[in-house]
Amino acid sequence: MNRNRPDNSRGKKMFFNKKKSCYFCKERIRYIDYKNGGMLERSTLETGKILPGRVTGTCAYHQKLLAKAIKRARHMGILKFVEPKRG
Ligand SMILES: [Zn+2]
Repeated sequence: MNRNRPDNSRGKKMFFNKKKSCYFCKERIRYIDYKNGGMLERSTLETGKILPGRVTGTCAYHQKLLAKAIKRARHMGILKFVEPKRG
């Protein structure tokens, strides 16, 4: 079994350039709008996966809101669903 652990991504962190504060707290966003696809897309991977809070720096409270908004956005066709890896 080959365990793919993303440990070797230490050298190049392309995501958010080390911004480790909650964007939503900073902007004093209380409600995350699922219609704001651009904002939600920042918090998802290319595959459509939601980035974990420890990557983006989003606090637990906003991460929860974010996940909810993203799931809603997916349902509305604003964001895409997670694409299964092929090949
Ligand atoms: Zn926050």
